[in-house]
Amino acid sequence: MSKTADHRTHLVLENYIGGKFVPCSRHIDSYDPSTGEVYCKVPDSGTDEVEAAVQAAREAFPDWSARSPAERGQVMKKLADLMEAQLEELAQAESRDQGKTVMFARTVDVPRAVDNFRFFASSVLHHTTDCTTMDHLGCVNYTIRSPVGVAGLISPWNLPLYLLTWKIAPAVATGNTVVAKPSEMTSVTAWMMCKLLEEAGFPPGVVNMVFGTGPRAGDALVGHPDVPLVSFTGSTATAQRITERSAPFCKKLSLELGGKNPAIVFSDADLDQAVTTTVRSSFSNQGEICLCTSRIYVERSIYPEFLKRFVAAAREWKTGAPSDPDNNNGALVSREHLEKVRSFVTLARSEGATVLCGEGEDPLVLPQRNTSGYFMRPTVIAGVAESSRVMQDEIFGPVVCVNPFDGEDDAVAKGNGVRYGLAATVWTRDVGRVHRVARRLEAGLVWTNCWLVRDLNLPFGGMKNSGVGREGGRDSYHFFTEVKTITVKH
Ligand code: NAD
Repeated sequence: MSKTADHRTHLVLENYIGGKFVPCSRHIDSYDPSTGEVYCKVPDSGTDEVEAAVQAAREAFPDWSARSPAERGQVMKKLADLMEAQLEELAQAESRDQGKTVMFARTVDVPRAVDNFRFFASSVLHHTTDCTTMDHLGCVNYTIRSPVGVAGLISPWNLPLYLLTWKIAPAVATGNTVVAKPSEMTSVTAWMMCKLLEEAGFPPGVVNMVFGTGPRAGDALVGHPDVPLVSFTGSTATAQRITERSAPFCKKLSLELGGKNPAIVFSDADLDQAVTTTVRSSFSNQGEICLCTSRIYVERSIYPEFLKRFVAAAREWKTGAPSDPDNNNGALVSREHLEKVRSFVTLARSEGATVLCGEGEDPLVLPQRNTSGYFMRPTVIAGVAESSRVMQDEIFGPVVCVNPFDGEDDAVAKGNGVRYGLAATVWTRDVGRVHRVARRLEAGLVWTNCWLVRDLNLPFGGMKNSGVGREGGRDSYHFFTEVKTITVKH
């Protein structure tokens, strides 16, 4: 089954279970954030649909897990080719579903989703396991790694296809079968990808897609006794619920969560580069990337100069119709999210902080069809108290706060002064300071003099409330497999 339409010609998505598209009797409206109109109807799946998908994944497991990594890789590479051939359609759909610009989807989301399949298809061929080289009590020891079984994969709405494939690719490369649940707000590209699975050569049941909300479909998946492993990317609050829900089953969990990421700019930094990249790191994808900068700390001697240049550059970061290639930002994902993000600006104002640009200025001039969309200008706030919720909570929108610091210790203390620990950036030309500060920052990723440069081989994930475990080449291989030590007496 492919695209169908209801009486108002909305897309109606269907679950993909056991190699077939299966209609669902209940649906949720999903909106085009740039117009505020319903874009598609997403299945509102529950325990029955999840049960069917888990059953299909269980049945597919013996054959898929018995194939060689190279055979599995061939199928994955074919899927990557098919997705690449549909890059433009996928990018248009991602933009319409999520609100991001078509340009961002075309240059970031979809190419990286394709890369995820190519990378794991090949990287899985290069891992080795351990072996004792010395005779130990007349025995030789070695380890093997086996797929775990049916993997439950749950992803968020900000980088829909990219983050979903970051989980599906390593899971199937290592021989697991999967039941995936994308965000109910952004399900279309996952559904489009399902249409390519058969042609790529995936046997029925290896990849199953169940659409629906977290409390219904997500909860049923996490609570299913035959799903021994859950990889989740989303908010810290949801991760806490997932942890509780899966505890009775002792499931393997990987949790990639929220952030409140600092950028630390020392007085010896290349200011042009620091300003340009920090505007990008603060506002890319409407600030809806878990790695976006949310707090900027600037050494006091350059604070006025930085602020002047940063605000000028933020004003140049254009917001408007996602299809217009001149725009840097499109719309935020939903009306509720827009209101939440705006409420932080209101709170900052009420606490006496200064809003230097963005929210509260003249309304954006938008094309007629976008006037009900969820748009917000890049907003820069100075002088927020470190203890304020504006500085402590994840905002996840185009809002960044700037404050001065005095010396390395103060910078590190401020950078670490939140419950999150996902990513940080450090700007300085002093190589010794780069190493000292990076070592002391409580963050899973520290970028120095750059941002968002990713080597997929290296661990990705957060400390503190930003996550549990890491994903990436070897880390994903370890997470999606069980290790066994074998001892042979001779
Ligand atoms: P969310 O936690 O609301 O939802 C994420 C997913 O979990 C969705 O598919 C949702 O339906 C599902 N879900 C919700 N409740 C559930 C439940 N009780 N049981 C099972 N599943 C449930 O997050 P969101 O609003 O979609 O995404 C934004 C958050 O994701 C931000 O906090 C952001 O920082 C985080 N994020 C983290 C990373 C990372 O790699 N660390 C990457 C992207 C986004």
